[in-house]
Amino acid sequence: MKKTFLFFLLLLPLIVSAQTEKAFPDLIPYPQYVVKDAGIYQAKSDVLTYYSDLKGQQARDFDAHLATSDWKLRAVNKKSKADIFFQIDTVDPQLVNEESYRIEINKRGIMVSASTDAGLFYAYQTLLQVAEQTSTDVKTCNSLPFLKIFDTPRLGWRGWHMDVSRHFFDKAFLKRQLRNMARYKLNKFHWHLTDDPGWRIEIKRYPELTQKTAYRPQHLFTEWTAQGMKFCNAADPQAYGGYYTQDDVCEIVEFARKLHITVVPEIEMPGHSWEVLAAKPELGCTGKPYANGEMCIGNEETFVFLKNVLDEVLPLFPSAYIHIGGDEANRSHWEKCEKCQKRMQAENLKDVKELQSYLTRRIEKYLESKGRHLLGWDEIIEGGLSPNATVMSWRGEEGGIVSAQAGHDAVMTPWVCYLDNAQDDPRLEPRGVGGYVSLKKTYDYDPVPKVLNEKESKHILGIQGNVWAEHIPTPARAEYMIYPRIFAIAENGWTVPSQKSYTRFHHAAQRELDRLKTLGFRTFDLRYEHGDRKESLTPVRHKALGKKVTYNMPYSPKYVASGDATLVDGKRGTFNYQEGFWQGFETHDFDVTIDLDEVTDIHKVSACFMQRNDQWIWMPREVVISISDDGKNFTEIHREGCDIDPENPAVLFQYFTWEGNKRARFVRYHAIANGRVGGWLFTDEVIVE
Ligand SMILES: [Zn+2]
Repeated sequence: MKKTFLFFLLLLPLIVSAQTEKAFPDLIPYPQYVVKDAGIYQAKSDVLTYYSDLKGQQARDFDAHLATSDWKLRAVNKKSKADIFFQIDTVDPQLVNEESYRIEINKRGIMVSASTDAGLFYAYQTLLQVAEQTSTDVKTCNSLPFLKIFDTPRLGWRGWHMDVSRHFFDKAFLKRQLRNMARYKLNKFHWHLTDDPGWRIEIKRYPELTQKTAYRPQHLFTEWTAQGMKFCNAADPQAYGGYYTQDDVCEIVEFARKLHITVVPEIEMPGHSWEVLAAKPELGCTGKPYANGEMCIGNEETFVFLKNVLDEVLPLFPSAYIHIGGDEANRSHWEKCEKCQKRMQAENLKDVKELQSYLTRRIEKYLESKGRHLLGWDEIIEGGLSPNATVMSWRGEEGGIVSAQAGHDAVMTPWVCYLDNAQDDPRLEPRGVGGYVSLKKTYDYDPVPKVLNEKESKHILGIQGNVWAEHIPTPARAEYMIYPRIFAIAENGWTVPSQKSYTRFHHAAQRELDRLKTLGFRTFDLRYEHGDRKESLTPVRHKALGKKVTYNMPYSPKYVASGDATLVDGKRGTFNYQEGFWQGFETHDFDVTIDLDEVTDIHKVSACFMQRNDQWIWMPREVVISISDDGKNFTEIHREGCDIDPENPAVLFQYFTWEGNKRARFVRYHAIANGRVGGWLFTDEVIVE
């Protein structure tokens, strides 16, 4: 007894120090290799000086970047006078990747090596984060601890996607975010420039696109959709919106280039083109504006239009990849259109999926002829993938896996990379797109699926965080949704899994958030994070565990959860109905009978339901609980209505419960759906106590 006590006493200081000691340096994204040595390098004078091997434009860009940084370094024109030497090393085989770098800080000075200016730029981002943690005021930081860092990215595509169509975000907003993206070593900005709610890029040949569709009478996207999705003139006193001139675009592209970020434009086709058809109704199957959002693929004018648009877009964007959207087209219009049907016959296309692929292939051929590659959402796989297309996998990982297995490149951006989901308890957060994706969930995502072999894995170019703006009407809300989850995207793209640690990362993320706040960013605060639904964290024990459940009405194949075991497995749902803990019932009632094997004392029967009006998930209209000894003749013991308004937009969870004293072998739980076709009932467990 005494011995054990002594042992714990000895152990205690060790445990405490391991838990409280902060990692140093505390970096996002975390490098591949970091070793801290004893000692500190002190500047030769009161400021640290630097010299770089870079020449010409590269040198000017690098110097300008350092000059705008908080950390005041002074350029000198001789290597021997410099504290920091940024060296180009094209010999070291470890620096072949142009984004790799090496930092060595010892008593002789600070040596930074990379094979390109991009590598030196990323090394500087790392040094800056080190300096911020070394000195209370980074401006005057003139000493750095001895360190050895070697760093190289895991993946080449580390992206941030911003939807500027559903709500418009100006150049100043974009630049503010781009500066941060570079800090976290993100290197792709996917600019979602066109979509149903507005065309946002000036096309000189078709001024009507922005004249007619860049403004609308409602600020909120949800109000715009509720009021018929109509556009207005810029001069209208109600007008909300905007667009980027070609000069604006060049300004952003150049701004990003200096931050080693490639801007990838997205021009949506053939779906998500409500705005195109509002301005140019002749390109739709019906020829009428405000009828649908799909371009007519049977009409040759569609191709003339798209080529003319691309002819203006391509010179603005040096990006090798051009994103053509391709998602969520309602293909049924093409089935009813004479021209589309004619095209299908002429081209021997067996269905409308192949019709869409016909368009994608033609556009790809055009892009390839201009030296560019086509990139599209994973729907472009359906109907046959065009020869060199790259796929952005958004409907889960499946699209990326299929593409990689077929030898196509893919960028992973499934649900956990959707930064428009609520990041904390959705009952308390601003309205999101429908799910709950915490920082940890994003962080735990590995963009390289385990099912891929080594060769197939090479086709996974990287990862991207997507910001869709349905529910993001202001820059403040956008920043709240972006930070901190974009840090997790950055680290998932850059850092090898063996170097990842959520504890270390979480600490670093809070430090970065604090820094961003001092710069005026309006971010989420991890200090006040509530976390996932409490019930989901611990299993529940009850009398129906593992018992046989008979479904009097089937669950939907779309939301099976753990199948027949779901309701009696002790696992309750998270905030997210897509995560496999909630079972879904579409249109009809939820009605099950549980066999407890023998007549049993029961005191409580309870099940929880979810309401998410925006996802068509509603509470039951009424719940009826009955019991039986033989499974045939049931006695009703409880009937309970629901007074929650189906229109209530809040995320709600409610238990419907009977309590009392009964004996029975069979328990029937029947929740009556509210009767809306296509509506859902979701429940996670029927608890019998
Ligand atoms: Zn058509």
